[in-house]
Amino acid sequence: MARARDPVMKYGQVELATEQDIMLANTLHEYVNKHILVGNVRQNLDGGFHRDEELAEATFNEVVLGLTRLGCGRAGFPEKYGGLGPNSFVTYNIMQEELARGDIGISSYFGVNSWAFLPALMTNNKATLQRYAPMFCRDEIHHAAFEMTEPAGGCNMEDRCQRGHTIQTRAELIDGHWVINGQKIWASNTGNSEFYSTVCTTDPGKGDEGICIISVPKDTPGISFGKPEEKMGFIYTDRNASMYFDNAKVAEEYCTGRPGGEGARVFHRMLAARFCDGIKGVGAAQACLEIVEDYTKDRFIVGKPVRERAYFAAKIGEMAMKIRAARAYSLYVAGKFDHPEIYGEVVSTAQIGESSAAKVFATSTAIEVILGCIELMGSYGYSVDYHLERYLRDIIIVHLWMGGAQLGMLESAQTEYPFKPW
Ligand SMILES: Cc1cc2nc3c(=O)[nH]c(=O)nc-3n(C[C@H](O)[C@H](O)[C@H](O)COP(=O)(O)OP(=O)(O)OC[C@H]3O[C@@H](n4cnc5c(N)ncnc54)[C@H](O)[C@@H]3O)c2cc1C
Repeated sequence: MARARDPVMKYGQVELATEQDIMLANTLHEYVNKHILVGNVRQNLDGGFHRDEELAEATFNEVVLGLTRLGCGRAGFPEKYGGLGPNSFVTYNIMQEELARGDIGISSYFGVNSWAFLPALMTNNKATLQRYAPMFCRDEIHHAAFEMTEPAGGCNMEDRCQRGHTIQTRAELIDGHWVINGQKIWASNTGNSEFYSTVCTTDPGKGDEGICIISVPKDTPGISFGKPEEKMGFIYTDRNASMYFDNAKVAEEYCTGRPGGEGARVFHRMLAARFCDGIKGVGAAQACLEIVEDYTKDRFIVGKPVRERAYFAAKIGEMAMKIRAARAYSLYVAGKFDHPEIYGEVVSTAQIGESSAAKVFATSTAIEVILGCIELMGSYGYSVDYHLERYLRDIIIVHLWMGGAQLGMLESAQTEYPFKPW
């Protein structure tokens, strides 16, 4: 899974996939077919019809451990900590699509852990990496969180035009310790993580200059958690709750993005790569299309398989076309992010415009396709037995987080001219 070098698919100068990427995709595809898309595994990840938490946890652990043994947990970590080396954006997207085809929550487990480590990886923060990276590179299940959203609104934080002025969680450096006060809400893995990568400010009035990111270990005095939120999707595959900081004291060395510019650079780079969530929609929509193709070959309308009726055949073709477009767009943007020397810094207006457009396009397409699949299957599409409703419940929040569709569309409208498509 290390960054691969020999592109086998290219669009202009953009690498869309390499031999190694395709091997990785095939391995994950096979695992997902054998271990997730079988029997009741997908329902069991939600604890079955009766939402049995123990069943959900046992199923989650079994699936995640299998994927961890394949190397999914080690992807992106430096080799010296037991990792497989840095990932390209293309590789990461290919991996996320295959995982989300099985289950969006499982793809998010690996995605959120990587996300929480990104500040430490970007700034080579030894305190965080030496303490936690080896643990996450073992064949074990561990969680990490990225605490960004606050009660005043998630999009306020994700909107780069706010330049950090809306962050309210305060960090003050006193005698070699960061003293943190404030509240975060909704972050994934809250309450069950090894550490909490937390976005703070030394002073909201300073905007970007005040942003700092701190890895908060789970045993930090002064932190506490609210009760897990109840949601329509990600029922047990994610745990979302409030996190409270009441004079929480963390050693200075755990700062993974210092105030004065470094914290802001890390934070804005992380938000820029929002297209990496869109690809989850591609995987989910692909899974639903496969369910529909299978179902409509054996379901007959007046003596003919449903999928051979002109209207249904055209609808299936149209959905397949849209999924391909969303996949190609996501990989194209991933290729551009892999080559800032050609396409510009990932935080440039042009790159963020492309990233937001790809994310909104892929998740909107997924919602449209999954609803279309439900329609083509009638009552069975609506039934939990065919899983479509579950992919729909999960993908809706992916559409809403990281700026939501509305902010994403406003960002999409921005670019720099002359536009550089390749
Ligand atoms: C399952 C789940 C997992 C999550 N994981 C994490 C996590 O790991 N870390 C974390 O920090 N947070 C996480 N969140 C929170 C999530 O990121 C936020 O809920 C999301 O950013 C939206 O923020 P909000 O709900 O406050 O909506 P708001 O910010 O109130 O936005 C509401 C609506 O207004 C629109 N809007 C807002 N501002 C603008 C604008 N300037 N222009 C145009 N439209 C705008 C939005 O698009 C949206 O449609 C998670 C949430 C859930 C449900």
